[in-house]
Amino acid sequence: MGESLDCNKLYKKDHIEANLLDEEKSSSRYRGLPVKTKTIYENWKVFSKEGHLMFRCNYKKAQWYLTRGLAKQLSDDSIGLKFQPKGLGHHGDRYHLEEKMNICVCCGASQDLTMHHVVPEMYRKYMPTAIKSHASHDVLPMCKACHTLYESNAFEFKQKISAEYNISLNGRGRIPLPHNRKVKKAASALLRHRQSCKDLVNITVSDTKRNVKLIPRERIKELESIVLQWWNQMERDSLSPRHDNADIAHSSITIRRLDDMSDIPDSVLEIAVQLLDYRLSDEFIEHGKFVVSELMRNRQSVVVTENGREIFDETRHDLADKRDHWPNLESFVIKWREHFVKHTNPKFLSDKWKIGDSIYTNVVNY
Ligand SMILES: [Zn+2]
Repeated sequence: MGESLDCNKLYKKDHIEANLLDEEKSSSRYRGLPVKTKTIYENWKVFSKEGHLMFRCNYKKAQWYLTRGLAKQLSDDSIGLKFQPKGLGHHGDRYHLEEKMNICVCCGASQDLTMHHVVPEMYRKYMPTAIKSHASHDVLPMCKACHTLYESNAFEFKQKISAEYNISLNGRGRIPLPHNRKVKKAASALLRHRQSCKDLVNITVSDTKRNVKLIPRERIKELESIVLQWWNQMERDSLSPRHDNADIAHSSITIRRLDDMSDIPDSVLEIAVQLLDYRLSDEFIEHGKFVVSELMRNRQSVVVTENGREIFDETRHDLADKRDHWPNLESFVIKWREHFVKHTNPKFLSDKWKIGDSIYTNVVNY
């Protein structure tokens, strides 16, 4: 058995998602928050033909208009559209049109900036496009330290939502696989033991060998037996014409029977430690999907008038600019904004950013 087995193909997306909760608990996920290497806001201004400031964008987008002859350059950091757009973008929206600072909205730091989603992605991704495309309002620059600090508060809030909607953050519809768990634990212990043996060779006597914990020989045999039985069962299953072993499905591995416990290569142990603790039933539903679908049960028809006011009128179904609004989703987004402000006290957040701002986009994509 070579060491180059493609373990990644073994376990599908479900496995990665399954581990999210554990990662959140340990907060290791947040230590690995992706830091922005490029400037977040480049603040190019885009004007309409009539000279209205419509929106701001980055250099790349401005160049996109210029190279296609759709705009002319007005100054070092502004362009004017040559065509008549369907609407005026963010015209009149003071928050979206202001020049934005490339600093942490909480502490003002300009280094190690990440982007924070005020409404967690696990919910937002299931929201209607009219809300998702308005995301920039609720995606804010935060330094890694402030972001990591807040995420533990956010996790507590998610747990409250979990209790309120009676659905685990891991979703509903997982079927536990206790045997896989047993094999995983055995393989994990064996890998640690093997590493300790290697460490022992490298340290000097004065490094106090007593600090290196080794597993007694008898226990090692028990653990190896557990892994060996699992592996050879996989081998038997793979020979069966009707096998449906999810662990080896979609993999390119050729499983070779192991006759001796001492034969177990590290590569087999590494596969074992990635076994799923559960499988998903046909009724499985993600936490975020369930919560958002509940919030969307209540829907209203809304007409947006020329002066921007919204009229809720179920009788005007004939109007072309009628839109769907979801009052409970609005409350949900507002609650997340309130939670964010309460726990971070963002001193550098624009005073034009309001908790009660609309959650919907009125902007046409050009
Ligand atoms: Zn900060």
